[in-house]
Amino acid sequence: MQLANASREQLQQWEQALSAEYNAIKAEGLNLDLTRGKPSAEQLSLSDALDGILQHNYITDSGIDTRNYGGLEGTPEARALGEQLMGVPAAQIMAGGNSSLTLMYQLMTTAFFFGLEGADSAWNKEEGIKFLCPVPGYDRHFSICEQLGIEMVNIPMTSNGPDMDAAEALIKADSSIKGMWCVPKYSNPTGVVYSKDVVKRIANLAKIAGKGFRVFWDNAYAIHDLSENAPQLASIWEATKAAGTTDSVLQFASTSKITHAGAGVAFLAASDANLNGFKKVLGIQTIGPDKINQLRHAKFFAVPGSLNAHMQKHAEIIKPRFESVLKHLEEAFGDNALGQWESADGGYFISFDTQEGLAKKVVALAGQAGVKLTPAGATFPYGKDPQDSNIRIAPTVPSVEQVDAAMKVFVLCVKLASVQKALAA
Ligand code: PMP
Repeated sequence: MQLANASREQLQQWEQALSAEYNAIKAEGLNLDLTRGKPSAEQLSLSDALDGILQHNYITDSGIDTRNYGGLEGTPEARALGEQLMGVPAAQIMAGGNSSLTLMYQLMTTAFFFGLEGADSAWNKEEGIKFLCPVPGYDRHFSICEQLGIEMVNIPMTSNGPDMDAAEALIKADSSIKGMWCVPKYSNPTGVVYSKDVVKRIANLAKIAGKGFRVFWDNAYAIHDLSENAPQLASIWEATKAAGTTDSVLQFASTSKITHAGAGVAFLAASDANLNGFKKVLGIQTIGPDKINQLRHAKFFAVPGSLNAHMQKHAEIIKPRFESVLKHLEEAFGDNALGQWESADGGYFISFDTQEGLAKKVVALAGQAGVKLTPAGATFPYGKDPQDSNIRIAPTVPSVEQVDAAMKVFVLCVKLASVQKALAA
């Protein structure tokens, strides 16, 4: 469909045909859901052997009785697992509880209320502090800033990562910008992997930023590749070491989408100064993490290579779902300007941009036809997509057949909304 050169009669014919198709689908009473960025039950079952793996052996190789209190930074074995996941030396890693989002919240509130480098460094000593948010991005990051009253500033995502010219210019001009959210690999939701140049420029941001600047590097999809020749993410740890800015980046990861989501182990990797600053505040909140679960995970992945082999099994389950989404998008929009997307090689999402002003309408049309999509705007700070064009597609939970059926409806809704827009113009 090439709308730009179409006559009014042609547009009307398309509108009638698409509406008829849409009404027929509506009458089918479908009930499909592309909203949930969660592992499917089939994926979760890959890790069921975690349950009972300890067989009453609670002592780690390093001699820690995991049943007892203590060990704020996590067990050495769990921190070594963090090293495999994050590519940062275990000495710089803390293994925590079940959620990296909780760790991000704790680091944000620590920096905000108490300061990571002593009380004088607390962000709330200054009025009107801000955070850079590459958009579209992860809504739960934005909710943390919103709750703390930290003003969010959008910066566009490109196919190489955040627009670094924009980020650097903003930071240079405004010392109240205290940090930036990043999902550097298979970004939620665009699926983009940050380029080496972008990683290097992010490592250098602290040199132009005001005091206390922190990048929240949420590497939630660090090893969640769909193809064997997966794109490599450059090491931000090495880049900050080279730049002399190791204090400016806080790295996060978890096993949530590796083992059991909600019952995994989360990790923080940071410089000694940040780890010490955080531990002072964390030690008031807790005596230590769930080390028994940490031991279960260390045992589950004890054999070298087992983590990669496990991730390949996830990929085998997820890949056909992603292929179905991409096939439908390519067929419907590969040769026209009705939509744009990045073809993700991993992660949990595909992000689709409609023509300007149509995302809400497409989501509503799909909903009325029985296909639930994430609300338009959810991928932007304050729920506001200035272009009203971004829609996040999450294909992991439904079966391949359900993804296929849902995507047929999705492309139909995009076409219908686009033709109606062209007719109204
Ligand atoms: N970060 C990103 C980018 C995510 O997509 C998610 C899950 N949707 C999380 C963090 C949550 O991770 P956790 O389960 O470790 O809290």
